[in-house]
Amino acid sequence: ISDRKSKGRMPNIRVCALFRPLNAKEVSDHGDTVCIRAVDSDSFLLKDDKEEEFEFHFDRVFYQRSEQAKIYEFLALPVVKGAVEGVNGAIVTYGQTGAGKTYSMEGPSIMDCDENKKGLLPRVVDDLFSAIRLSEETTKYTINLSMVEIYMERVRDLFDLSKDNLLIKETKAQGITVSGATEICISDSAEALRSLSIGIANRAVGETQMNMASSRSHCVYIFTIKQDLKKEKRSGKVILVDLAGSEKVEKTGAEGRVLEEAKNINKSLSALGNVINALTGSPQGRANHIPYRDSKLTRILQDAFVSFFS
Ligand code: ADP
Ligand code: MG
Repeated sequence: ISDRKSKGRMPNIRVCALFRPLNAKEVSDHGDTVCIRAVDSDSFLLKDDKEEEFEFHFDRVFYQRSEQAKIYEFLALPVVKGAVEGVNGAIVTYGQTGAGKTYSMEGPSIMDCDENKKGLLPRVVDDLFSAIRLSEETTKYTINLSMVEIYMERVRDLFDLSKDNLLIKETKAQGITVSGATEICISDSAEALRSLSIGIANRAVGETQMNMASSRSHCVYIFTIKQDLKKEKRSGKVILVDLAGSEKVEKTGAEGRVLEEAKNINKSLSALGNVINALTGSPQGRANHIPYRDSKLTRILQDAFVSFFS
C-alpha cells in the first residue's frame, strides 16, 4: 500500500500470516496436534521437534477459523479504497504449494459466492463497484482487468494465449504497463467474475499445453480504475499476485526444466524480497537504488510500491 501522506515514497506494507485447516492427509500422517500457539493478534509461537518454541511477529495473524471477510478488510480493503482515489496497491500471497494461496485469492472457486468462504478477488470486485457507485455523480470511472502469468521470466496473456511474450513498459502517462496485454472493460461484479473465470480456465489450458504446473508460475491480476474528472485524468491500480510455490527444490536430483523453473522462481521471489528490504530499510540504511528491474514480477509491481500519482 503506498502511503499518501508520505508522498508515496514510504511504502506502507502489511505482512500477515494465515493458517489453513489441516487436510486429511496431514491429519493421518501427523495427527492433529497443533504446533503453534497464539500469543495475540500479531504473533504466535511455533514449536520445533525438540519442543522448543520460537516467536514470530506479523502485522496480523489470522488463525484457522478466521473469516475471509476479516482478512479482506485488513489486507485488501485499504488497497481498494486507495485505487479508487488514484493510489496504486498490491496484494500478494506467498507460501509453499498447498499452503492456501489460491484459496485465499479465489475462495473455493471464483464463482462460489458463499459470503463466508469467498476469496479476496470477488470481494475486491464487489467493493470496487460499490465505491465507484458512491461517487458516480461527480466522477466517471472505468475499470479494466488484465490477467497475465509469469513463467520462466516470460509474461503470458491469460485472456489471449497467443500473446506469450509480453513486454513491460514504463511511460510518463501510464506508469508501468504490460504492453499489449488484453484489457477487459468490466462494468459490474458478475461480468468481472465471468472474466476472471475465463482467465483462470485459460491458465489451466496453457498449463496442459506446456506440461507445466500452476504452482511453478506467478498469476497476476491487474485492475486499473480510471477516473475521468473535469480537468484531469487519474488512475489507480489494484494488483493481486498468486505467487509460485516458495518450496525449495532439492539441488540434488532436480535437473533439466525442473531446475530451470526452480532457478527462475527463486530469482523472482528473492528479487521481491530484495525490493521490499530496500524499501523498508531504516531511513539511514534505505537503499537509493531499488532493484525493480531484477525480475518481471518486481517490474510489474513497481508502481504499486511507489505510487506515481502522489
Ligand atoms: P496453493 O495455492 O498455496 O498451492 P491452495 O489454495 O490450492 O494452495 O490450497 C491447498 C488446499 O487447501 C486446497 O484443497 C484448498 O481448498 C485447501 N485450503 C486452503 N486454504 C483453506 C482455508 N482457509 N480453508 C479451507 N480449505 C483451505
Ligand atoms: Mg495455487
